[in-house]
Amino acid sequence: MVIGTAAVRNQPARASAPRRITILGATGSIGTSTLDVIAGQPGAFAVEAVTANANAVRLARIARSTGARHAVIAEPAAYRDLKEALAGSGIEVAAGGEAVAAAATRPVDLVVAAIVGSAGLAPTYAAVTAGTRIALANKECLVSAGELFVGAARAAGVTILPVDSEHNAVFQILDGRSMEDVERITITASGGPFRQWTAEAMARATPAEALKHPRWSMGPKITVDSATLMNKGLELIEAHHLFGLTGQDLVVLVHPQAIVHGLVHLRGGAVLAALGPPDMRAPIAHCLAWPARSPLAAAALDLTALGPLTFEPPDLRRFPALAIARAALAAGGWATNILSAANEVAVAAFLDGRLGFLQIAGIVEETIERAASLVPLRAATSIEDAIALDGEGRRIAAQTVLGRVSGGGVKDTRHGPL
Ligand code: NDP
Repeated sequence: MVIGTAAVRNQPARASAPRRITILGATGSIGTSTLDVIAGQPGAFAVEAVTANANAVRLARIARSTGARHAVIAEPAAYRDLKEALAGSGIEVAAGGEAVAAAATRPVDLVVAAIVGSAGLAPTYAAVTAGTRIALANKECLVSAGELFVGAARAAGVTILPVDSEHNAVFQILDGRSMEDVERITITASGGPFRQWTAEAMARATPAEALKHPRWSMGPKITVDSATLMNKGLELIEAHHLFGLTGQDLVVLVHPQAIVHGLVHLRGGAVLAALGPPDMRAPIAHCLAWPARSPLAAAALDLTALGPLTFEPPDLRRFPALAIARAALAAGGWATNILSAANEVAVAAFLDGRLGFLQIAGIVEETIERAASLVPLRAATSIEDAIALDGEGRRIAAQTVLGRVSGGGVKDTRHGPL
């Protein structure tokens, strides 16, 4: 979503044929920023399909304003509302998880994968196996089933373009460079709203406080992930799959100004950094235009107005989620799948007021430990396998939460408050 007040320049229409685009998760924060980039380049893009979970009114508005051909709502109960809202528009309407996955396979130049959480696994995988280029925001795909996604993309000749600002920065620095020359990659973290809080204060943090991110405006799940630093843990795993480095060669630094997003350390000591404003429209525009360079989609960076840029190591004592994610990466694909599932359940329980902020990481760690004796200790070999493993992780995590909280169960959150 958008941060900063500077006006964004509209760009003239391009002479070439518009790029056809499908947006999975069009009603969310990344979906909204994507629509903003598209609106800023009239004539450059044609929207084929848009999808959402249950927000039929907003989805219908988006479908009408973009001239999309197809609008799909995952929640069947919202079908009637969507159908009524689009009556007479000529836009095809469908509902259900399979319809979302089918929308992802319609022939287009690019699918923007912006569903939150493991609900994005099946449709994003369907787009990859259909051979469509992906702008990947839904990092949980790589955390839950990275080997599978990377393997399928390779087999189908598909480029996965990272939307995440840190990975997008690294992708732009690498730009075809041989990985032989790369010694390390650093991704930065703003540190979130609790960077300077004591552990005692964090233990009492409310959902409203966790949702107040100092730099980025994002959906609720990733905002809480940023507050625990689990987001950076998920991003380490994402970076491993995208760039092929082991956890040892992936570094996290806290950089509160959120201007330097990624750094590549080359053999011989050179360090290349990519800078940009904390505005997701910049990496999204890069993905939408790739391999061409995009027009300006966010406020231009004014280096003289920035002030000092600072970097510090993360405090793993107050933010253990990062270390838990590192350990899961070292343990393998089964563990990162369970990590992602457990984190979704724990974050939902925190947002529901059933779990303390500092308990989120503990639930994730305990779920992985319990799963180690219950699930096959190997990465998923099919998308169905990955989704089943995710379901098992959610089940164990829900039980774990229940064990910590007196009274009240924890529901599966894929259609819940996230
Ligand atoms: P939001 O919560 O803002 O939006 C999520 C989108 O997914 C909505 O369109 C929502 O529909 C849809 N959705 C939710 N559940 C389902 C489901 N079961 N089936 C189908 N669609 C569903 O999330 P964000 O935009 O913040 O994040 C999306 C992804 O991008 C996440 O993986 C996040 O980690 C990643 N990301 C986000 C960044 C950001 O700046 N926001 C930055 C980098 C990565 P509905 O509106 O109907 O609920």
